[in-house]
Amino acid sequence: MPTSSPLILVINSGSSSLKFAIYPVGERKPLASGLAERLGQPDASIRFDVDGDKTRFPLSVTDHQGAVDALMAFLKEHGWFERVAAVGHRVVNGGERFTESCIVTDDAMIEEIGTCPFAPLHNPAHAIGLRAAVRAFPALKQVAVFDTAFHQTMKPEAYLYALPRKYYRDLGVRRYGAHGTSHQYVSHETVRLLGLDPDDSGVVVCHLGNGSSATAVWNGKCVDTSMGLTPLEGLVMGTRTGDVDYGALAYIAKKTGLDVDGLERMANRESGLLGLSELSNDCRTLTEAAQAGNHQAEETLDVFVFRLCRYIGALTAALPRLDAVAFTGGIGENSAYIRAKTLKRLSALGLDLDEEANAGVFGGRSGIVSRSRKPVAIVVPTDEERVIAEDTARLAGLLPVTA
Ligand code: ADP
Repeated sequence: MPTSSPLILVINSGSSSLKFAIYPVGERKPLASGLAERLGQPDASIRFDVDGDKTRFPLSVTDHQGAVDALMAFLKEHGWFERVAAVGHRVVNGGERFTESCIVTDDAMIEEIGTCPFAPLHNPAHAIGLRAAVRAFPALKQVAVFDTAFHQTMKPEAYLYALPRKYYRDLGVRRYGAHGTSHQYVSHETVRLLGLDPDDSGVVVCHLGNGSSATAVWNGKCVDTSMGLTPLEGLVMGTRTGDVDYGALAYIAKKTGLDVDGLERMANRESGLLGLSELSNDCRTLTEAAQAGNHQAEETLDVFVFRLCRYIGALTAALPRLDAVAFTGGIGENSAYIRAKTLKRLSALGLDLDEEANAGVFGGRSGIVSRSRKPVAIVVPTDEERVIAEDTARLAGLLPVTA
């Protein structure tokens, strides 16, 4: 790699954290990455990771700007600052307004991103990160890459709720989906790795992490996804319910006196794997407990798997043909236990399990985990930062022109 090649800084700004990665244009692996944590707290710190060598420093200014300033100092120290040519930002929700990645043109646009009502925990934090990056790199193009953009190819039949239409018309209440950058990357990688025809292929991607979602992709385009207006709908997650009968929530509210905010908190933070197991939101902890004979942990994972299988079935029905099921995310990439339980239940779709291959795929490796080939099950590690870096390089005009 020429030492002069331009660099893309990728920023994922959360409410109390700021993740970053630095990519040379056209490279698959970052030069460095890191994470500022506990922003807003006195013990805020920043960690830099260069070639697996991790160093952590306390932040003297403990907010997002402090984190970006520390990042600038780090870039200068390594002689990389001058080479940063554009900054890419992850944005969780772009609503219907942002259907693809775009250059951030002015503060009004940052304001619009920050006030998107459908991701109240995430989007305001993205705006803070964007403003800090604009102050730090005023001459550079800032690119916003939206998690919802990939799902904007869904048709009304997939994105409309059967609520009174005025709520869609007046308030924008519809299904937007999430994890779109991951679904886009993994579905395209699946097609590439399996040698499928990009213009005649059906893939269901299962992104299973703390937040989980599954998406049906036909010829590279999303046709349906499990998450909805917010990231609460769909699969069972670490602390989120996924699908639940609204009637059950109304009944709980009437019986317990929980108000709307209380219900929202319960459904988002106290449910899912944590709520059902009464033990942990962490799949690994629950797997170990289940294997040690904890019945409630095992039953919780069974609910997780059953819901996932129901969704893979439903999403298959959205496709003309299913060629591949791809697993990704912390659980999808690492848990042979969850993949095995899932694939064993999907014989109706022609899927099965290759026990030995499945046991050998974890820790960032990709690989086929079914004996069946039509359809086939594959693990594909996700790489959202890389998609953001590539989109940023493209929009900032940094890619070499090919004939
Ligand atoms: P996030 O949605 O926060 O990005 P991740 O994609 O990092 O989450 O996934 C976190 C989940 O992955 C946790 O539930 C964790 O237990 C699970 N996980 C990671 N490694 C393993 C493993 N070896 N076996 C089972 N689960 C794992």
